[in-house]
Amino acid sequence: MKLDTKAIRYLTAEDWRVLTAVEMGSKNHEVVPTPLIGRIAGNKSGTGFHKSISALAKAGLIGKVKNAKYDGYRLTYGGLDYLALNTHRKQSSIYSIGNQIGVGKESDIYVVASSTGEQRVLKIHRLGRISFRTVKANRDYLRNRSSSSWMYMSRLAALKEYAFMKALRENGFPVPEPIAQSRHTIVMSLINAFPLRQISSVPDPASLYGDLIAMILRLARFGLIHGDFNEFNILIDERTQFPVHSAVKVDDTNCMLEEAEIALLPILIDFPQMVSISHPNAEFYFDRDVGCIKRFFERRFHFVSDEPGPFFSDAVRGVEQKGERKRLDVEVEASGFSRKMAKELEQYMKEVGVDGDRMADDEEEMGHSDDGDEQPYRFGEDVVNETGDVQQALDRSSDPVQDEPLSERM
Ligand code: ADP
Ligand code: MG
Repeated sequence: MKLDTKAIRYLTAEDWRVLTAVEMGSKNHEVVPTPLIGRIAGNKSGTGFHKSISALAKAGLIGKVKNAKYDGYRLTYGGLDYLALNTHRKQSSIYSIGNQIGVGKESDIYVVASSTGEQRVLKIHRLGRISFRTVKANRDYLRNRSSSSWMYMSRLAALKEYAFMKALRENGFPVPEPIAQSRHTIVMSLINAFPLRQISSVPDPASLYGDLIAMILRLARFGLIHGDFNEFNILIDERTQFPVHSAVKVDDTNCMLEEAEIALLPILIDFPQMVSISHPNAEFYFDRDVGCIKRFFERRFHFVSDEPGPFFSDAVRGVEQKGERKRLDVEVEASGFSRKMAKELEQYMKEVGVDGDRMADDEEEMGHSDDGDEQPYRFGEDVVNETGDVQQALDRSSDPVQDEPLSERM
């Protein structure tokens, strides 16, 4: 589905309040009864309320559900996108939306800008959209499961990705800087580099291979396996380096010609599938990550390492002993992405056949029609009840929107 931000500038504070009310009502109702939306929004029957409902429905942010036992609305993916964008706008993490630079099976990637013009990346998780379109059996099965809507799982994927990116970044791993997370979206720094997949040759494959294997091993020492470590999820940042001890030559114009070298710095992205080295299938994921790199280097650069492995048992020797090392898997779990959430997400990914980027070549073309096919959004347990708490949250969300509209100026 496309991100269409046209209507975002025309929504009033009242519209936002009603949209937020639909989101909140979705916690307990697949179709939120219209009177309940009114109650949560603090406006039962005023004309303003009905005007907002029509405006939101017209913009495709909520969908009227016919054939239901009662009159009601559900939040669409578009509505969820707007709520997330509004939060990013209020927190000043996004000012404007630019070009889409990636369409993954499970996400849409946009270049965005901050109010100071700094370019960033917005990743919108859209978990399971392909699988749902192609595997009807899955859809029917999942539809009957209350906590398994696409939107809830996409939110979990964003939460997980943000938590891991933050922990990795804080521990010196080369990953984008995580800037903000809201619902099913994250904002991170833009890496000005190409995916390894697009690189046809490198001056020293052995050295790059060594760096990537070292990264897999370092992750394991911190208790982690990426789980989707491949040429799509490694960006290669080319840096010009001036060796410290190189001889300085001077040409006939008296300019110094230092022996500049190009250093290739691999940057790792895409973390929704990370697993702990204590995961029951950890060895399988570890071997698969190593295997992906070996296969790619052989195919693309005709490089085969002399050394066998690395092997999982060597990589994690000693790590699981208490106090031996900093465990980022444990740290992330403590930071709010709980084991229960991890299990729910993993189970869902398995059920809908999410298996990272490795099938990207043979996937059908992307795109999702707004054909009323969408699932209602459901929060997890951590959302406020429809009581005074809700009102409090709504008061916050009904802050007048910023003067600067989210524009499409880029
Ligand atoms: P998916 O889960 O759909 O595979 P990714 O996080 O791997 O999503 O992103 C898809 C593509 O978008 C990447 O292959 C890369 O080209 C681009 N991309 C993602 N994040 C960034 C970033 N921070 N900077 C630059 N490009 C990015
Ligand atoms: Mg990817």
